[in-house]
Amino acid sequence: MKLKDYRKKRDFEITAEPQGGCEVQPSSGKPLAYVIQKHQASHLHYDFRLEWDGVLLSWAVPKGPSLDPAVKRLAMQVEDHPVEYGDFEGAIPEGEYGGGTVMVWDRGTWTREVADVKAALEKGDLKFTLYGAKLKGSWVLVRTRGFGGGGQRSSWLLIKHRDRFASIKDITLEEPRSALTGRLLADIARDEEGNVEKAAAGDPPDLKKAKGGMRPSRPARRSLQKRIRSK
Ligand code: MN
Repeated sequence: MKLKDYRKKRDFEITAEPQGGCEVQPSSGKPLAYVIQKHQASHLHYDFRLEWDGVLLSWAVPKGPSLDPAVKRLAMQVEDHPVEYGDFEGAIPEGEYGGGTVMVWDRGTWTREVADVKAALEKGDLKFTLYGAKLKGSWVLVRTRGFGGGGQRSSWLLIKHRDRFASIKDITLEEPRSALTGRLLADIARDEEGNVEKAAAGDPPDLKKAKGGMRPSRPARRSLQKRIRSK
């Protein structure tokens, strides 16, 4: 059971996070999901997730991704998540595992740049291409410590390869809004009855420098939330 660790950590009577189906299917030819969830829990981090063999392989990246190939970002591997988790944006009740606010910061699909993903994960060197709203182009995850698989913690580095999508712009500061709803963390906490003050601490202090549009209107937010919930 690939999702055993995921389910063990959570009380689905309390949290709105998805439990995930019981059928975990190996990846076939269809497009594979990529998602980054910005998560203001006890500490702000970015959860980097790649769909593989019916689950989302997951790494917590404290500083978030960098488009600069010279910058290596620490990525701690965490437990596999259900594929449905990629649609989750909302508040996890305080006191629960990961209590805080979750934003779908980026989403899209990914393709492998290696012949064998399982072998690449075991070796600790996974090269891939992202087709996200914010992150695009070639990237690599390199393991530096510990061994992957089985929910064990291991340290990796997330690094951008040199290509036309490489840049020195700070994408986490310039594009702080949800790729799903256009909301900031504070907006999500307010809409979902989370801790607004704590969530706001994860939004950039100077929003004037931030791009990515305005907060959507209240009716637009309602229909977006309805759409997310009905999935
Ligand atoms: Mn997290």
